[in-house]
This record gives sequence, structure tokens and C-alpha cells, in this order.
Amino acid sequence: MYKIPLFNLNYGKEEEDAILETIRSKWISTGPKCVELEKKFSSVIGSNYSVSLSNCTSALHLSLLALGVDADCEVIVPSLTFSATVNAVKYVDAKPVFCDIIGHDKPTIDPEHIERLISNKTKAIIIMHYAGFACEIDEIISIAKRYNLKIIEDACHAPFSEYNGQKLGTFGDIGCFSFFSNKNISTGEGGIITTNDKTLYEKIKLLRSHGMTSLSYDRFQGHATKYDIIELGYNYRMDDMRASLALVQLEKLNKDIKKRTQIRNAYVEKLSGMDEILIPFQDFKAFSSNYIFPIVLKNSNYKRREKLRNFLHDKSIQSSVHYPCVHLFSIYSNETCSLPKTEYFSDNEISLPMHGQLTSKDLSFIVNVIKDGLVG
Ligand SMILES: *Cc1c(COP(=O)(O)O)cnc(C)c1O
Repeated sequence: MYKIPLFNLNYGKEEEDAILETIRSKWISTGPKCVELEKKFSSVIGSNYSVSLSNCTSALHLSLLALGVDADCEVIVPSLTFSATVNAVKYVDAKPVFCDIIGHDKPTIDPEHIERLISNKTKAIIIMHYAGFACEIDEIISIAKRYNLKIIEDACHAPFSEYNGQKLGTFGDIGCFSFFSNKNISTGEGGIITTNDKTLYEKIKLLRSHGMTSLSYDRFQGHATKYDIIELGYNYRMDDMRASLALVQLEKLNKDIKKRTQIRNAYVEKLSGMDEILIPFQDFKAFSSNYIFPIVLKNSNYKRREKLRNFLHDKSIQSSVHYPCVHLFSIYSNETCSLPKTEYFSDNEISLPMHGQLTSKDLSFIVNVIKDGLVG
């Protein structure tokens, strides 16, 4: 166990009470809690519809299916993301086309590169709001309009993050969120889709549950006695136990994000003046979830970064890398692409501990260890 972990679950009595209530209600699978979560999520995010799901990987898969992406299509994706963003494109037999980031200070997908990658097969772009900071929304929307492309937002890092006062996950055709244990909203496993399009919403709901025309809960309530299967669907449902946890977590989110913002500001202050370190999104003003706190070593390389990470490890500080390049994983080794900025970022980035329980003493300790590590 690390003395200072990367992430710390903010669970308390509220989560225990909520899950007990659901267990005692005797309805633990997809039911009223999932419906309540979907309504609440739509209202706080500002989308017409939400669909709760088993995780965000299934959310990405269903997004591509609902938008009609198939084997004839190409989808432009970042490589600086969790592999699920790209794997989902493979699930529908489409071709992922990897796009570079804008720069080391702004590691989100580069609109200029997107435009150069568009072919007559391109059907959609998946954008990922790294660390909770918005991609270049206006430019990407304008490109998508010009070339008639769909936009899927992988908003796993970005619940409640904003761009021009509007919440991320509501700009594209579909927004996808994760409730995995180390995300801002934690339910163990879980995810949700947001959309303003009723047709997409209905299609996603159908595909979430085997393509069935009614749910067990509808039949339990006597609203239906039989069902038909009208599409080849999946079992990608969330259950009511997790939905009840997500509802409590959603209530806590604003307060938790405020703490994260303070922690980010304290990190930035303590790290500023260190010439070796670049802080991505340093001058970014919009409200951000601050899912992670990334730093990048300047004029560095993979070996130097690993040395510093090992130094942190020896002092019982957990760190991480967001992310190893997806295009360099073995299963993507056939894809030819040149992503120099993504590769540098991936080799030289370190994610430092980020969670609401960090104290200013913790932060001073972490920053001093970094200073020592860079000298040694
Ligand atoms: C966590 C994460 C996912 C996958 O979410 P799951 O709920 O674990 O399936 C996808 N993309 C990004 C950017 C993530 O951070």
C-alpha cells in the first residue's frame, strides 16, 4: 500500500445506506434506481436523454452501433487515451485512424490533423477530454459539419467539466461516461450515455438489453407480459445497486471537484518555477473535473521519466501514466501512423496523486520528492 495513493475512494455512510436501501427493496437489477439516475444525470448535465450502462466500454460500442458505424467506415480517434476508446471501433469492424495531440501543453486531439486524416470512408470522430479539459469543441464541430461526420465524446474524465458554460458530453451526437472505481463518480463498474437525439436514445436502449421490446422490470410491474427481439442486442445494463451508488456520488461531485480544483491550484503554485516541468492546460480557465493531475518532463525521455516514477515509488507515492500510446500496443502494430507529439507526451508524462483527501502537507512532500528526484 502506498502512503499517498493516486486515487482515494470518497465513500461514506451515504453509499452504505443507499445500497442497503436498494437491497432491502428486493429489486437489485435494472429498475427504478437506474431510471432515477438517468433522469438526474440528464438534468445535471443538460442532455435530453441518458441511458445507464454496465461500463463506458459498452457505451462506446453502442454509440458506434447506434450511429451506423460498420466495416466500411473509418473513425478518427486519439491515441492518447485508454485503449477502450479505440477497441470499441474494432468491435464494429471499422478502422481506427489515429490522430495526434495539439501539443504537450494541450494534449487533446488536434483539429488540423483531424482534417488531414479525413477520407471518403470517415464516418465519425471520437474525442476525449483529457484530464477533464475540453477538446477544441468549436473547430471540431465545424469540421464535422463540413464533412458530415458524427462526433462521439469520450467524457470519462470530464463529468461536470464545461466549455462556454455548457457541460462536456452534450456537444457531440453522443457523450459517454464511466463510473469505474477510480473515476470522479465511482460505482465499481458502470457507465452512462447522454444524447439529445430521441432516435439514438431509443436505439441505444434497445441494444442495451438484447434488442428486447420490454425489460424484466416492466413485466414485474405488469406493464408487459411478453417481449419480442427486434435487433441483435447485448446485455450492457447497469443494475439498481450501482445506480443507487451513482446517485449518491452525483450528489457529492460538485464538492469533490471544488477540492480537486484547490489541489490542482496548490500543485501548480508549488511546481511553478521548476524549469524541467510543464503543466498541461496551465492557463485553462473553464470549470474542469480535474480527474487526474498530469505533468510532463521537458527535454526528457522515457528512461528519465521512469527513473523519477521509481523515485516516487520508493518514497511511497503512487503515480501513473495517462497513457501508453494506443497505436503502439501489439494489436494495433499494423496501423501505420506518425504521432510524434503523442509519443513524446506518453513517454514523459507522470500523473501525480489527485483526490479530495490530499492535504497541503502531502502536496509539499510530493513536490519535494520530485525536486530531489530530478536532481539525483
Ligand atoms: C475509464 C475509461 C474508459 C473505459 O471505461 P470503463 O467504464 O472502464 O469501460 C474509456 N475511456 C477513457 C478515457 C477512460 O478513462
